[in-house]
Amino acid sequence: MGLGEQISPPDPPKRANGSTTASIKSYAPATGELLGEAKVYSPVEVQAAVERTRIAQEAWGLLPVEERAERVLRFRDAIMDRAEEVVDLLARETGKPRHEALSHEVFALADLITYYCKNAASILAPREVPLHLLKHRRSVLHYVPRGVVGIISPWNFPLVIPMGDTVAALITGSGVVIKPSEVTPLIALKAKEIWDSTGLPEDLLQVVTGFGETGKALIDAGVQKIVFTGGVATGKRVAAACGEKLIPCVMELGGKAPLIVCEDADLERASRAIVFGGFANSGQVCIGVERVFAHESVYEGVVSRVTELSKKLRQGDSMAELVDVGAIIFPKQIEVAEKHIADAVAHGAKVEAGGQRKEGPGQFFEPTVLSGCSTDMTVMREEIFGPIVPIMKVSSDEQAIELSNDSHLGLNAYVFTTDRDKGRRIAERIEAGSVVVNDVLINYACPETPFGGVKDSGFGRVHGDDALRDMAEVRHINFDRIKPPSKDPLWYPYSHKTYQWSLRGLRALFSGRGLLQRIGELL
Ligand code: NDP
Repeated sequence: MGLGEQISPPDPPKRANGSTTASIKSYAPATGELLGEAKVYSPVEVQAAVERTRIAQEAWGLLPVEERAERVLRFRDAIMDRAEEVVDLLARETGKPRHEALSHEVFALADLITYYCKNAASILAPREVPLHLLKHRRSVLHYVPRGVVGIISPWNFPLVIPMGDTVAALITGSGVVIKPSEVTPLIALKAKEIWDSTGLPEDLLQVVTGFGETGKALIDAGVQKIVFTGGVATGKRVAAACGEKLIPCVMELGGKAPLIVCEDADLERASRAIVFGGFANSGQVCIGVERVFAHESVYEGVVSRVTELSKKLRQGDSMAELVDVGAIIFPKQIEVAEKHIADAVAHGAKVEAGGQRKEGPGQFFEPTVLSGCSTDMTVMREEIFGPIVPIMKVSSDEQAIELSNDSHLGLNAYVFTTDRDKGRRIAERIEAGSVVVNDVLINYACPETPFGGVKDSGFGRVHGDDALRDMAEVRHINFDRIKPPSKDPLWYPYSHKTYQWSLRGLRALFSGRGLLQRIGELL
């Protein structure tokens, strides 16, 4: 080849949906229309992005919390100014109804930002911890910025999940690099565009689009914390990669939320809750209703009312018409739904409503109600993440609790009863991060409370005051209350005398009702 001759680069290998290793194509699930493309960040580019964020973070981390919170509010205001533009893109890129884009994503995010910005100064204020024994010392906890927080997020709530975690990290003084899902990259890029329009430091928040490899590169790029939301299998790989580097991480993984209908429940409310909790976002909700345990005395009524309500749902493209249920964001979920239904029917379940993918343009699956379900069906054991509500008859609350807990997942759970005390008693016995009585999905909209799961649903929490503190690094500063002696009796040189005094002190304090307890009783 002669000098100066042009070499055209080879075409990058193709991915299944027409994306390549160099760029991602984003399609509208409701129409199949190509919405846009995003570049695939290489590990070197991810590393460079993290470095730029680190530099921007240095000045940001020195600002007082109040100042940071005030500036982050500018971002919220900019989102509010462009709310409809954001709603439209959300509806197009995810296929969810515009109502859901507005209330489940934009509204929930605005409320979370407002709560955190309003309360950050008091939540993150230095906290004195009274020492029960060492009264001559004082301990104060300070919440300092970590550095750069990496956020790896899924496709089902591509705005509120990554941006909620982002805002928490920014308020604590860290910078953020987000790796959004390959399925919905455009929303994260829109959020970044809005951020840049506010005059806030551009490099402080960065978005690195790409596939799993880009997410992996983010963990390797020297971040100080990872907040991961996604499936259990990927979560285990991400947690292992974080463990290898000793990076603290939050794991928000899958769910299999049970909904218990007690015999005294308000059946109309319970049935409507099942329909909403099962079909919102086409069932692609980690806290969606994934299995219903209805008491035998109300089972028939629940099945018939849920079926009736489900058949009335309007499904379609929310950009073209008023709909209740939108498209399936991730095409693989259609096959997952079909497999669950086939397995359930083979084991004796009855399809009361839906059950089919819809023909025509776009990815749609009918809202499906299954009755006669049992725990040997995959639909009752594995995460569905699609518009299927399986209903099973139980003979007692006790059995419903036992079956609810018979799962490797434990994110959310729901109980319906008109007896509030009973609802609380049942809730206290369910193994889940959150249990909601007489409502569904609502706990995600309580920014004051921790959100996260137990068992394979993950560890760590987002939302709430403790999660904000955890987003920061805690620094314990311990100092003297009174002028200390020049020679400390506990330091060198050791002597028999100090040993004897220590022994006497030990017994006085800790034997039987020791001195400490007696002093405590007197106070
Ligand atoms: P995945 O686990 O497939 O992916 C999550 C994110 O991780 C994506 O951005 C993905 O990129 C990225 N990723 C994939 N492989 C790696 C890797 N080796 N290292 C680092 N990052 C990687 O989840 P989904 O996107 O399919 O989301 C659905 C799941 O999310 C469901 O199980 C659901 O229950 C769960 N979820 C949990 C929530 C919670 O709060 N507990 C909330 C919402 C959803 P890419 O997309 O490019 O593969």
